[in-house]
Amino acid sequence: MVERDDRGFILTGPDLKHDGRRPKGWTLERDPYLLETNIPGIFAVGDVRHNSVKRVASGVGEGSICVQFVHQYLSKVL
Ligand SMILES: Cc1cc2nc3c(=O)[nH]c(=O)nc-3n(C[C@H](O)[C@H](O)[C@H](O)COP(=O)(O)OP(=O)(O)OC[C@H]3O[C@@H](n4cnc5c(N)ncnc54)[C@H](O)[C@@H]3O)c2cc1C
Repeated sequence: MVERDDRGFILTGPDLKHDGRRPKGWTLERDPYLLETNIPGIFAVGDVRHNSVKRVASGVGEGSICVQFVHQYLSKVL
């Protein structure tokens, strides 16, 4: 399951750190990317994301940024 806050919004990137520690079960040497959930390669953008700006332009912007993280993720696993 992806980690969520107490209102159900999905946690990503730095929001996943608890007391400076990486999320439970995280096995990679790197921190989660900015828009990555606690499950490597699963990303969240837009309204569903914890602390996101609930606006269309923000969702679109996050989506376009996220594409770069997907490329980075795939370049390391493939
Ligand atoms: C009344 C209202 C007025 C607004 N006015 C503005 C405005 O003037 N300007 C502005 O910038 N923003 C406005 N917003 C905010 C804007 O609509 C959202 O920020 C934006 O739509 C978020 O896009 P999103 O893709 O993250 O989420 P959404 O647009 O909510 O898209 C999520 C999609 O996922 C689908 N979905 C949900 N669960 C599942 C599932 N389990 N499986 C498959 N699909 C699923 C939903 O049906 C939906 O189509 C307004 C919002 C509301 C409610």
